[in-house]
Amino acid sequence: MTEKQTALTVALEQLKIAAEKLELDSGMHALLAHPKRSLIVSVAIKMDNGKTGVFIGCRVQHWDARGPFKGGIRYHPNVTLDEVTALSMWMTWKCAVVDIPYGGAKGGITCNPKELSKGELERLTRRYTSLLYDFIGPHRDVPAPDVYTDAQTMAWIMDTYSQITGYSVPECVTGKPISIGGSEGREQATSLGVVVCAREAAKNSGLKLKGAKVAVQGYGNVGWNAAKIAYDMGCKIVAVSDSMGGISSARGLNPYKVYEHKSKTGSVVNFKGCDKGCEHVTNEDVLETECDILIPAALENQITKTNAGKIKAKIVAEGANGPTTPEADKVLYQRGITLIPDILANSGGVTTSYFEWVQNLTREHWPVEEVNRKLEAKMVKAFNDVYKLAKKEKCEMRTAALMLGVGRVAEAIKTLGLWP
Ligand code: NAD
Repeated sequence: MTEKQTALTVALEQLKIAAEKLELDSGMHALLAHPKRSLIVSVAIKMDNGKTGVFIGCRVQHWDARGPFKGGIRYHPNVTLDEVTALSMWMTWKCAVVDIPYGGAKGGITCNPKELSKGELERLTRRYTSLLYDFIGPHRDVPAPDVYTDAQTMAWIMDTYSQITGYSVPECVTGKPISIGGSEGREQATSLGVVVCAREAAKNSGLKLKGAKVAVQGYGNVGWNAAKIAYDMGCKIVAVSDSMGGISSARGLNPYKVYEHKSKTGSVVNFKGCDKGCEHVTNEDVLETECDILIPAALENQITKTNAGKIKAKIVAEGANGPTTPEADKVLYQRGITLIPDILANSGGVTTSYFEWVQNLTREHWPVEEVNRKLEAKMVKAFNDVYKLAKKEKCEMRTAALMLGVGRVAEAIKTLGLWP
């Protein structure tokens, strides 16, 4: 993003492109450009030192024409209403692209979770849930984890919601621990979706997955699981990185051993377990590595107009949200590189969240094989829908994914009509 661009300006620009391509009327465009409801709450808690701490939180509910609102909650010092609004909009399109019956939402609390004790985080989460109580719930808005919130946070939300309701309501939130209704397969769902999309793209471009060279930026939940799944499918992992730096090996890395090393030392750097030829590289080098498939799975704005010309991968599968700037999108497209956009590539996470909700509503617990099979079917269908539309419209897959998502939501709103 350039200086003047924020997540929201990018999201609105993307909506404009899709609206023009879809020839939406100005009223529909305006409806989709604004969230249906934005709530701002003051979350007051007793701090460990006995003082009162006040944190500003929000929940933005973008559109729910296709089903209840759905989206994560992030705890971060930089959380703003604008950023959360953009993220809620992307959730709306993402759920529509992968065709699950949800609308989009996002929430956040502006705080530094690293400076809060576990007790303070629990009180913050419970108070925030109580303030949102009337606006969330299994058929209204179903939260999930996001940056610096996790399964434990979701357990506190479920308990608070259930205590106020008077009975256990596991379906009010997803991303829970398995012991209280979480789904099998959720932890690696995003990565499985990313790799399935990359596999489909490889198939379409005649690239053999067995032996395909893969580079992964970021070795957290999404990056490490993507490396592991790709390796198990026969790919060669030639480079990985985290915030401390990267490692590369033309002979290939064993992602399980790299993960073991990272778990012990906190980083992938100084990994000794690779074959001869393993070397330390910078994060920039990992992006520009000689490879077939590149998976950015760390932060936003990593592929920019500065390095887009140097990307050597044939396929870029966006595990992270927003890793490629709009200018870089154009460069990659002109260079014939297939970019699988975030709202398609990383939608496996919300899809398995949807499976968790369905299991909770029906009081079932599916085996991991069933979850993965259903996820793969959804991802393959979504990939092909977007791929075919991109071919038909002669446009980037990002534009096609936006057209598909925005188009489906607009159609739903039109069909429902405006009340009163
Ligand atoms: P995470 O915190 O588990 O991992 C992030 C990784 O990125 C860490 O290894 C960190 O060291 C690394 N990193 C940070 N700065 C870096 C840098 N400058 N260069 C290289 N690596 C760097 O987070 P995650 O859950 O894996 O999420 C990663 C991305 O995927 C985020 O954009 C997130 O929004 C997106 N995403 C995650 C999910 C999910 O299910 N976890 C779903 C959809 C999208």
